[in-house]
Amino acid sequence: MQPYMQSIEHFYPLLSKPSNIVVTCHQKPDGDAMGSSLGLYHFLTLLNHQVTVISPTNWADFLNWMPGVGSVLNYESNKQKAQEIIDCADILFCLDFNILHRTKHLEKPLTDAKCIKVLIDHHEQPQEEAFDYGVSNTAKSSTCEMVYDFIMTSGYGNLLNIDIATCLYTGVMTDTGSFRFPSTTASVHRMVANLKDLGLQHSDIHSNIFDCSLENKLRFTGFALVNRMEVLYEYNTALMHVYSQDIKRFDIKTGDTEGLVNYLLTIKGIRFGAIVMDRDEERKWSFRSKGNFDVNTFARKHFEGGGHFNAAGGGSKATVDETVKKFKQVLPDYYQQLK
Ligand code: 5GP
Ligand code: MN
Repeated sequence: MQPYMQSIEHFYPLLSKPSNIVVTCHQKPDGDAMGSSLGLYHFLTLLNHQVTVISPTNWADFLNWMPGVGSVLNYESNKQKAQEIIDCADILFCLDFNILHRTKHLEKPLTDAKCIKVLIDHHEQPQEEAFDYGVSNTAKSSTCEMVYDFIMTSGYGNLLNIDIATCLYTGVMTDTGSFRFPSTTASVHRMVANLKDLGLQHSDIHSNIFDCSLENKLRFTGFALVNRMEVLYEYNTALMHVYSQDIKRFDIKTGDTEGLVNYLLTIKGIRFGAIVMDRDEERKWSFRSKGNFDVNTFARKHFEGGGHFNAAGGGSKATVDETVKKFKQVLPDYYQQLK
């Protein structure tokens, strides 16, 4: 292994030799993690590689329409089979995460794997020493956009097809908040125009992602907004906490809480939105901000997390009430920045 991650261009020659390839992403994959993994899966399969996508955990039901999702292996429920596949891998692609512990229990198998490791990601502070080749670019809207760039500059751009387009559009759309965040560049729109030329059905994708909720999810959203939201106007901050009994009461599943944090930023003047949820083994934070408040640094400093400048996450071993208390204790340190 080289001491430092080599630029991705140096990896391209390896694409032409059929290999055993594993593609993985962060735990509880979102549209970008699943979309980039499956987009790359379809592309590499067309190049005659033997490809398996291994997800560290389960994922939201609203991703289950995606082309190829039926072949994704959930590590938590197929540990032995996944380990055998990792043992035989020549190449490992790590998508949409910056640091191996974002793959939860898959961290050790990935760390121990002896194969060539490639990173494609847009999060802050990547663990470069863990990868042989890679591209990390925080200016990119999504990992899906980066996989698109990877394909288009690989010399095999002609292989782009409707399945790849559908998967990559999903992640670009979800990670840009449906093309509204500042990361939505002209290049993003040019990419989407190219995907449309391939026959992309974008309305169907929006509908599959956003219009397939069950009644309980909508009722839970209403409940949480009425009963679990606090607006701290002094700090231009809105905070929400969700107890495990709320999750049980409304039968909330993986993915059902995605997007909830965005409601907080719809209040006029609010620049910082934070939600903590009581998950099985830890309390999970989601942070979102508008403008120049850096939630990546905030999450890293106080809640063992990270992510992007305006969207990050973190965790806490403490109870919901204790972790909310800690949040409120550190908030005054940011009074000047949030004013
Ligand atoms: P979300 O709030 O949607 O779970 O995550 C927001 C962003 O932060 C995503 O890009 C996600 O990958 C990243 N993220 C979420 N939780 C963590 C964490 O615990 N550590 C790090 N480094 N990144 C996280
Ligand atoms: Mn992403």
